[in-house]
Amino acid sequence: MKAAILTIGDELLDGFKVDTNAAWLGQRLLQRGVTVVSMASVRDEQQAIEDLVSRLDGQADIVIVTGGLGPTPDDVTKAAFCSYFHSDVHFDENYWQVLVDRFRQRGYDIPDNNRSQAEIPTRAKLLSNSVGTAPGLEFDSAGTTFYVLPGVPAEMEAIMREHVLPGLGGGASIPWVTLRTAGMFESALAERLAPLLPEDDSVRVAFLPEYTGLDVRIRGVDNSPATRQRVGALAEAVESELGGVVYGRDDVTMEAAVGTLLSHRKETLAVAESSSGGLVSSRLTDIPGASAYLLGAVVAYSNEAKIAQLGVRPDTLETQGAVSEPIAREMAAGVQSLLGTHWGVATTGIAGPGGGTADKPVGLVFVAVSGPHRTVSREARLVPDRIAHKAATAQMALNLLRQELLSLE
Ligand code: ATP
Ligand code: MG
Repeated sequence: MKAAILTIGDELLDGFKVDTNAAWLGQRLLQRGVTVVSMASVRDEQQAIEDLVSRLDGQADIVIVTGGLGPTPDDVTKAAFCSYFHSDVHFDENYWQVLVDRFRQRGYDIPDNNRSQAEIPTRAKLLSNSVGTAPGLEFDSAGTTFYVLPGVPAEMEAIMREHVLPGLGGGASIPWVTLRTAGMFESALAERLAPLLPEDDSVRVAFLPEYTGLDVRIRGVDNSPATRQRVGALAEAVESELGGVVYGRDDVTMEAAVGTLLSHRKETLAVAESSSGGLVSSRLTDIPGASAYLLGAVVAYSNEAKIAQLGVRPDTLETQGAVSEPIAREMAAGVQSLLGTHWGVATTGIAGPGGGTADKPVGLVFVAVSGPHRTVSREARLVPDRIAHKAATAQMALNLLRQELLSLE
């Protein structure tokens, strides 16, 4: 089965919004063995939408369309489909009642311009929306079914799950595995893996680098049992070659990997953050059940806070500077003893754009982990961009903790 994805909205083309709908849809369709043959985005302009719909009609078995279904005048998707399919609209009293009740339950009177959402094209089938007000619409032409869905990601996803995905008989999923790595450069990693990579083209391997690490995606080109077997075998071979560099598969995050190890060992953690500004603890608390191991965190940005909250020695600050290996180690050990945990993690660095010197340039960072038996630290020169620097620092700190935990397994 072949699919096309069409996302609609000025904000996508103007670069104010990242097209997460297309990415979400691509993954879900891949899981169902449906091949996405094209993705396009278009402005909120009726003629432009009609032109693309006409081009996609007959090119794919299904076309998923998102965006522009709302009640505001900038939303013209429904008009474009009515025009292309020569369809009138009728006022759906039942659906209007659903909307009125839903507003009433939340304590509001429904605004008049929501009436347009109960105007259903006569040639469309209504796909109810359990989380919002704009229903999805299904239009069938000779060879192609168009699913026209709201742009709000949560609403699009709900309608896909409830009405569209269950009916897609694409067959078995195309097999793929993502191996998530951290702490190794792309070139070194590619060199290590070169001897393992397949000669034939039934399996594709992609290297997807980010500041926080690199994903190796191994993907079959079809869903035959032989390809599935090759993908599985290659993933295992890569994982055993890279060892602890791989922190998880598919959607596993570094914070989840750390959480699993801590839970399993029944050990506790405290965090002392300077340059990461709370990001390490924020990420740790994204994981349900983090309270079992994360006891607390201190964001100590100034020298005074590092001294008063973490017991860092003024003498060390004086002689080494706040961004230094000894300070990272004192912070980690300080928060560990402050909260009485098995583990302490710390970050200190220069995120920029100011504050760098020849000796200590923007991007320099130290992370440290103080454990039951020893304290370790790492130094790195990361990107001179604040946000990326914080993200990479947090990842590095969590990865060092993960490696220390692994060394005790
Ligand atoms: P509503 O009924 O809520 O108005 P709609 O179908 O009109 O839904 P839009 O107005 O196009 O949807 O978009 C609603 C919100 O969803 C906006 O914040 C928009 O930026 C976001 N959005 C739209 N399309 C996408 C997309 N492809 N990826 C991510 N976000 C999107
Ligand atoms: Mg819009």
